[in-house]
Amino acid sequence: MNYPKHHLVKTGYIVCCQVCDSRKLHIILDLGYQPLCDSLLTKEKLNEPEKTYPLRMMWCENCTLVQIDYCVSGEEVYHPDYPYRSGITKELAQYQESMASSLVKEFNLQQNDLVIDVGSNDGTLLKGFKKLGINVLGIEPTNIAKIANKSGIRTVQAFFDIKTAKEIKKKYGNASLIITTNTFAHMQTLGEFIMGAYYLLKDEGVFVNETHYLLDVIKGGQFDTIYHEHLRTYSLKSLIALFGQYDFTVTDVARGDRYGGNIRVYATKGKGKKVSPQVSKLLRLEKGFGLDKLETFKKFATRVKKARLEFMDFLIKTKMTGKSIVGNSCPGRCSTLLNYYGVDSELLPYLAEQPTSLKLNMYLPGKHIPVVNNQRLIDEQPDYVVILAWHYAKPIMEQLKIRGLKSDFVIPLPDFKIVKNLKV
Ligand SMILES: [Zn+2]
Repeated sequence: MNYPKHHLVKTGYIVCCQVCDSRKLHIILDLGYQPLCDSLLTKEKLNEPEKTYPLRMMWCENCTLVQIDYCVSGEEVYHPDYPYRSGITKELAQYQESMASSLVKEFNLQQNDLVIDVGSNDGTLLKGFKKLGINVLGIEPTNIAKIANKSGIRTVQAFFDIKTAKEIKKKYGNASLIITTNTFAHMQTLGEFIMGAYYLLKDEGVFVNETHYLLDVIKGGQFDTIYHEHLRTYSLKSLIALFGQYDFTVTDVARGDRYGGNIRVYATKGKGKKVSPQVSKLLRLEKGFGLDKLETFKKFATRVKKARLEFMDFLIKTKMTGKSIVGNSCPGRCSTLLNYYGVDSELLPYLAEQPTSLKLNMYLPGKHIPVVNNQRLIDEQPDYVVILAWHYAKPIMEQLKIRGLKSDFVIPLPDFKIVKNLKV
């Protein structure tokens, strides 16, 4: 079985829906020309020209997928210095460990079962399975595979496609469970990926795929999750439309709160498999919310534009009255926000990151705001601190207060808000 042609997304302008091939696409937001959000610049790079690409948020009327309409090649997006590593936060490690144990229970996995994680990074998720005695294998294209192997998680360093899948099957046998987290929005080779999983899975095997979720993006005003790495933002309806084009049945679904709201979809090999009532329940919720109506997305865009105006109005007034305002943290999403808003280092002098961050001493793409050690917040006590990882605002503000920060906080989204730092 081959895969549909449109499941190989070509670099450049995209005319049709990446899932269902429909031409009924509507523009929701035009975020302008933007640089790649994880291509931070060194000081030397500031003397050179910088590449930007169109960034537009599009909605498909047919399958309700949200996508961008310009694809930057994977080699440019995932350059050798790409700064993300999954084992980096304790929270993520804990989350992945609990994910592993719940999947082992759910599928009654035994020692002779093989679990494969595609895009396994440093092997954090597989460690959870290994602890429970399950046979594991990671597949990871970057050099992080070496770190995983060193820490005892068997990992093949390769891009995942049909060819890799066949080689792995020959060497390691069929998998009972294939997992992929936070990769499904990203890859151009969607068809290769799904068919690779199909070849590798045993009969009745399950492909579990976790990705950020459209309903949470729209409900939460999270336009800043739109960047070039995220080619697609899925609804359940669009995922069912996707797997419907293969010999898979979407048999179950669950929601979670990673990446500002995620969806975990279970695709079982073969057609006509037993489907959990959770699937129709979530489809009803999507319809009830209006993910199938252009009006819903227009309202979303209006809210985003209002939040931008209020933020800029506050920022300019703050500067005019001689008060100080800086940014906290530099997640990928803040590049979309600051570049779309038009905020540079004159308006926001720095972004403060934790001392372990790989982004320290670099500059935000596009607007060239320097990334500094967050000790500077404590030393300088600015009047306002903008929380750019605003989807984790609460714990971040708590932590900064514990460290002795007295500044007030600015929460940019979903609606612009000032949070006073109550002095005790
Ligand atoms: Zn579509």
